[in-house]
Amino acid sequence: MRTLIRGGTVVNSGGPFAADVLVDGETIAAVAAPGLFTDADTVIDATGRYVLPGGIDAHTHMEMPFGGTSSSDTFATGTAAAAWGGTTTIIDFAVQAKGASLLATLDKWHEKAGGHCAVDYSFHMIVSDVNDTSLKEMESCVAAGVNSFKMFMAYPGVFYATDGEILRAMTKARETGAMVMMHAENGIAIDQLVAQALADGRTDPVHHSLTRPPELEGEATHRAIALAAVTGAPLYIVHLSSRHALDAVTAARDSGQNVFAETCPQYLFLSIEDMARPDFEGAKFVCSPPLRPADHQLDLWRGLRTNDLSVVSTDHCPFCFAGQKELGRGDFSRIPNGMPGVEHRMDLLHQGVVRGEISLSRWVEISATTPARMFGLYPRKGVVAPGSDADLVVYDPTATQVLSAATHHMNVDYSAYEGMELVGRVETVLSRGSVVVADGAFHGREGHGRFLDRDLCQYLR
Ligand SMILES: [Zn+2]
Repeated sequence: MRTLIRGGTVVNSGGPFAADVLVDGETIAAVAAPGLFTDADTVIDATGRYVLPGGIDAHTHMEMPFGGTSSSDTFATGTAAAAWGGTTTIIDFAVQAKGASLLATLDKWHEKAGGHCAVDYSFHMIVSDVNDTSLKEMESCVAAGVNSFKMFMAYPGVFYATDGEILRAMTKARETGAMVMMHAENGIAIDQLVAQALADGRTDPVHHSLTRPPELEGEATHRAIALAAVTGAPLYIVHLSSRHALDAVTAARDSGQNVFAETCPQYLFLSIEDMARPDFEGAKFVCSPPLRPADHQLDLWRGLRTNDLSVVSTDHCPFCFAGQKELGRGDFSRIPNGMPGVEHRMDLLHQGVVRGEISLSRWVEISATTPARMFGLYPRKGVVAPGSDADLVVYDPTATQVLSAATHHMNVDYSAYEGMELVGRVETVLSRGSVVVADGAFHGREGHGRFLDRDLCQYLR
């Protein structure tokens, strides 16, 4: 089965160029001068369109347990929504419970996701219990293609790791070539601020942000970087939200340390003003780290240009407003933390191109190419090139759309971007050569997505 995508502009991280793309089976057979190939079983006309490598969302939480409830997208619904938005690979998180084995946790997540994903998927491992057994098991995880381990300086009593535990895990990461991913917020101090706020009767959603000030993200980021420097482990700061944290990452990178960071669309497009919306509406925007004052956004865009922020992922972790977010009425600390977004990452970042914040090729780099290289998937993913998986997006850069819960495909009852008008839209999506989205309809299949066994990070010295 050969598919020819004809007449488009291929956009790789190296820049745009006019080319036809020939797909044979599940892989790209050729990227050739326009008109060179004429023979194919199916032809997709991409005139006036971009042809992009499928997006890679390196941070999602499908059906994740949190505070007695579970994120509302399953692997089936969440990966279908991802495909609608031009994302053809997700890396989700297997979550070690206290006392559980890492390998049993990994098996459990394979069971949850296996046979259900519409696009390809992989896992990071959340380490919440550092002990001799789990440190040893990190080696087996690396051998099984799961070589990135997320730890938390936030959430005392749940995922929180002490500096000593982080140091031990980083030492093991250094030995195995694995990456430590860090949720960098000072959870011990935050818990005190939360307790004070509640005692004072400050219970509205906006206090979720006010009790997690950017100084405590900056401090934790700096501390994580110091621990990484001491152990020699590479470090990836997840969902960086503030200039305070960005300053710490920039300084580390300038000193030559293997430190990387991602941000998320919600930190680029939303702000603490959204959390202050009346009638508990602000709960829709509760995530951690929290949304910041809008002036942080300019620094984050700058970080994306300078590569101090090298990836944009979503931290997609949806909870419905009805019945889930509402658990926190009268007590913001009980609002499930997380926001929906897996469907809109590519489109939102395209607004950065439209506004002149980033170049066309940088858009592809931060949303597909760098995540592929960062997490050992390149060149199988993240590039339009012969031999790569035929994960392709035909993108119409001039179409317009309005985001809404009424039209999105994520299994959640609100949109964080309700009513936002966007320029550009995904038109056709292929996952390993199969059309999953075309002509405004979903043609994918639950279970088409395969688990991706990942190599080590490609950015390490
Ligand atoms: Zn997350």
